[in-house]
Amino acid sequence: MKKIIIILSSIIVIIFIILMIFLFNTDSKNKDIDNVKENETTENTKEKENNEFSTLAYYKEENLDRYKTYQTNNPDLSIEDIVTRVNLNLDKDVYTDTLPAINLNTNYLLVNKFYYLDSNYIPENLELLDSSYAKSGIYLVKEAKDNIERLINDAKNDGMNIRVISAYRSYSYQENLYNNYVKNDGVEMADTYSARPGYSEHQTGLVVDVTRAYDNFNNFENTDEYNWMLENAANYGFILRYPKDKEDITTYSFEAWHYRYVGVELAQKIKASNLTFDEYYIRYLESDNN
Ligand SMILES: [Zn+2]
Repeated sequence: MKKIIIILSSIIVIIFIILMIFLFNTDSKNKDIDNVKENETTENTKEKENNEFSTLAYYKEENLDRYKTYQTNNPDLSIEDIVTRVNLNLDKDVYTDTLPAINLNTNYLLVNKFYYLDSNYIPENLELLDSSYAKSGIYLVKEAKDNIERLINDAKNDGMNIRVISAYRSYSYQENLYNNYVKNDGVEMADTYSARPGYSEHQTGLVVDVTRAYDNFNNFENTDEYNWMLENAANYGFILRYPKDKEDITTYSFEAWHYRYVGVELAQKIKASNLTFDEYYIRYLESDNN
């Protein structure tokens, strides 16, 4: 009897030990699974944090590293501004990694210090402006010309006297202009106020420089005509192309006199957005045209 009791209790002890080992194993396996899950979640959150940019419609996968670097260097900028500026190549020096402009002969044509026009690009439908409101011998694309005439006539009815002093400029004209500036002031200085040939928006045939009639264009900012333009130009398809306080985006100093034709609907949208043409192009036009 005593023997049987010893055997039985031994069996019970062994069963107990086996049971304990089994329970412990299951528990640690569960813990392992929990750990894996936890790691996966952390990684997903991390990936999302790193790539908060990808939520934007104009995000470009190939620019991800540049977005991150730009964000590190400009921690106060919004995600939208970071992606927009990097897509505009503003993390690079002007005139580097340049590309031929696309959307030729459309109102969406973007020309800046990263997108250039070929030396033989001449816009279609150029028409001579009338010397009653423009410097003699200058041209614009017909649609822009029709609208600047409408603008100048309506402005006149409001007591404004607006005159066009520059419009389409050929590649060779800009080349001469720029080379003369370089001769006088050096490349570095000339680059601050003049576009290099091929990079001037005037070559699109969609741009006017205006003044109060027979006044110096440098004074345009201080005139009623300028305020009239700010208020009304978009209704005729024109936008102020190089606004004040946007130099870091346009890479041009404020030019009160320089207006770009983009069509009435787009001009009104751009004006309402408070964005420059460059920014608006990246956010809303580029992907539509691809
Ligand atoms: Zn201009």
